[in-house]
Amino acid sequence: MQSAFDVAVVGAGIAGAGAAADLSDGHNVLLLEQEERPGMHATGRSAALHLEIYGNALIRALTQASRDFFEQGAGAKTFAGPRGCLHIASNEQLPALEAIAAEANVADVVEWIDARQACDLVPVLREDYIAAALSERFAYDLDVDAIHHHFLKRLRQQGGVIHSSARAMDCTYDGAQWTIVTPHATFTAKILVNAAGAWGDVVARSAGVAPIGLTPCRRSALIVDAPDGTSPAQWPAVIDIGGEFYFKPEAGKILMSPADETPSEPCDTFPEELDLAIAVDRVQKAADIPVRRIEHSWAGLRTFAADRSPVVGFDPDHPAFFWLVGQGGYGVQTSPALSRLAGALVRGEEIPAALAARGIRAEQLSPARFHTASQRQPRGCVATE
Ligand SMILES: Cc1cc2nc3c(=O)[nH]c(=O)nc-3n(C[C@H](O)[C@H](O)[C@H](O)COP(=O)(O)OP(=O)(O)OC[C@H]3O[C@@H](n4cnc5c(N)ncnc54)[C@H](O)[C@@H]3O)c2cc1C
Repeated sequence: MQSAFDVAVVGAGIAGAGAAADLSDGHNVLLLEQEERPGMHATGRSAALHLEIYGNALIRALTQASRDFFEQGAGAKTFAGPRGCLHIASNEQLPALEAIAAEANVADVVEWIDARQACDLVPVLREDYIAAALSERFAYDLDVDAIHHHFLKRLRQQGGVIHSSARAMDCTYDGAQWTIVTPHATFTAKILVNAAGAWGDVVARSAGVAPIGLTPCRRSALIVDAPDGTSPAQWPAVIDIGGEFYFKPEAGKILMSPADETPSEPCDTFPEELDLAIAVDRVQKAADIPVRRIEHSWAGLRTFAADRSPVVGFDPDHPAFFWLVGQGGYGVQTSPALSRLAGALVRGEEIPAALAARGIRAEQLSPARFHTASQRQPRGCVATE
């Protein structure tokens, strides 16, 4: 078994898989996953949306820079299906909707619609609840599994090696290379990429690197039947601009979420009954969707740095330790751009031109912004965007 590598990537979610695939073009790459297969945590639990006005300005730029990859797909495989999205506001929420519409890189991708038009698109919406909505032009349903497997396949085709049930337990650096101890084998690598999602700070500690104050936040989702006599397949997703709920069609049924953000330890999380009840209650204020039973529910951890932007770059105190964490609720839709960026920065190259053209700068993502102890303080899960 091969045990010496140029780069070891810890965590085989979409972030680690994407970066490992990019780096395997020219490097000898090892991808380690603690679970029995890749994608069992946040990546396998997302709502699979690509939304270009979601998150802060940096997230929006990274998402827009990822659009081409999703639209093109790979070979006969498509990664993005048309979905559309309405960001709806009640009367009291109108100022918030206007503020979002006025933000950088939003105007080109939205159109204002009124309550009647919103109800024509999603007939279950309550016309008297909605003051106005922003309709997104480039909102897609992503095939997360296909994207994730595309990255893993590319890694293998380029000679990369994947080990599952291989938790990186202890990582030590001798000045030239890392020694990474897993339950069944020990590996060496010149560079360690930390793509461990909710466990990002845990992996840093195990490598003797100062944590950056990541906060994993639980988000819950449930599936219910579509109302009798409706065919939701063509409805756009509907998102409350106040960040209290969203719903979207899902294989003939309805996926809904209370858009919860409850701080959590890194773990295999599950939904609380109360959060599911809150989701139903909030959705029903805006839409006539009777819920007789919950068919299925789940939860996953969306992990944020204090400023809610991803953390991508070499640790300022440890030049062989690379961070790729803090993707929050946007890690799928930003994965093509972040994979390319991580690959370029690990290779010591400039930021890719397509990202620079969108005003993205390496400093905005660098872990150096958490260099002092006070900057590393977790700020919980409260949205600032
Ligand atoms: C309910 C929900 C809805 C969401 N909806 C969307 C959406 O619509 N669009 C969007 O873009 N994003 C969405 N997200 C967010 C998105 O899922 C995440 O941002 C993304 O999956 C993060 O990917 P990741 O690879 O960083 O983390 P993960 O997928 O969690 O992968 C990290 C991996 O690291 C492994 N690991 C940890 N420690 C170790 C170790 N020591 N050794 C080896 N392996 C280790 C873990 O087992 C895990 O597999 C949603 C998330 C949730 C929970």
